[in-house]
Amino acid sequence: MLLAGDVGGTKTLLGLFSAAIGRPVLVKAEAFATLEAPGLGGIVSRFLGPLQPVSIEAACFGVAGPVTGQRATLTNVPWAVEAVDIAEAFSIPSVTLLNDLHAMAYAVPVLSSDELLSLQQGRALPGGNAALIAAGTGLGEALLHWVDGRFVPSPTEGGHADYGPRTPAELGLLQQLTSAYGRAEWENVVSGPGLVNIHRFTHPHGCSACDPSIDPQHAPSIISRAALEHRCPQCGEALAMFVAAYGAEAGNLALHCLSTAGVYVGGGIAPKILPALQTPAFLDAFRSKGPMTSLLEAMPVSVILNEEAGLLGAAVFANQSAGHRKQEGRTPD
Ligand SMILES: [Zn+2]
Repeated sequence: MLLAGDVGGTKTLLGLFSAAIGRPVLVKAEAFATLEAPGLGGIVSRFLGPLQPVSIEAACFGVAGPVTGQRATLTNVPWAVEAVDIAEAFSIPSVTLLNDLHAMAYAVPVLSSDELLSLQQGRALPGGNAALIAAGTGLGEALLHWVDGRFVPSPTEGGHADYGPRTPAELGLLQQLTSAYGRAEWENVVSGPGLVNIHRFTHPHGCSACDPSIDPQHAPSIISRAALEHRCPQCGEALAMFVAAYGAEAGNLALHCLSTAGVYVGGGIAPKILPALQTPAFLDAFRSKGPMTSLLEAMPVSVILNEEAGLLGAAVFANQSAGHRKQEGRTPD
């Protein structure tokens, strides 16, 4: 059996998978409140408890935070995650911690067509790289390099790169963000909190449809609903600016990665705002890269509809990790 996890600041999703060639098969998944446990070991214990005895070949956890030396810390979570602690406590021969987007990238090659929604068909070039961008609580970006006949995912911290405005309205947003934060990064615009920032910018005199300060945790979905239901023009403007910025940064990532095999839009926000992503705003901003426009027009762009792609990716890594250890005595890259 394989153990996979997607460990976030508020929610931790664990899954037990049976190993398989290519895509491991989900046996059981369960969500836990991250802060209710004293550590990841406590959550794993609660998950595996009713299933004991179960022999785990390999485990992988995607963690919403930087991973250094198989140790990870999460923002707003008072405990760290150590791979060695999980390995010892549950007698698992191979335990790996990955950045959460790095883990999700492992899911990309095994997703089925009904888990994807095409925004731009394009023409995938055999042997090309792919890219993954995912807005949720933060903005994650990962690269999938095509090496020796397979995709090799690698993490980035691209969401923290400097925000680049393109229009007079976006320049105004930049000024507001630099006043508030000192500098502006993409995550300040393309993320749930980013949508709240844009909402503040488009509503200098308040919003008649919603008050995001009443329920900060759900503010992004409250704003996007007000926009999609046409209850406030400025909410509509905020969502349109969000979608255009998302497309622009997806295009930037595609240029950095030269992702001629495809660009994948993951994360929790995209499936909730599909009608907005399907307006021309996203692709116009994605493609609008001067001399590189035709290159970007040819790249397939898809939204990942499977909201548990992060968990699946961690399971794929654990699956490969178990397989490689048997065949080659090493873990994959
Ligand atoms: Zn409004």
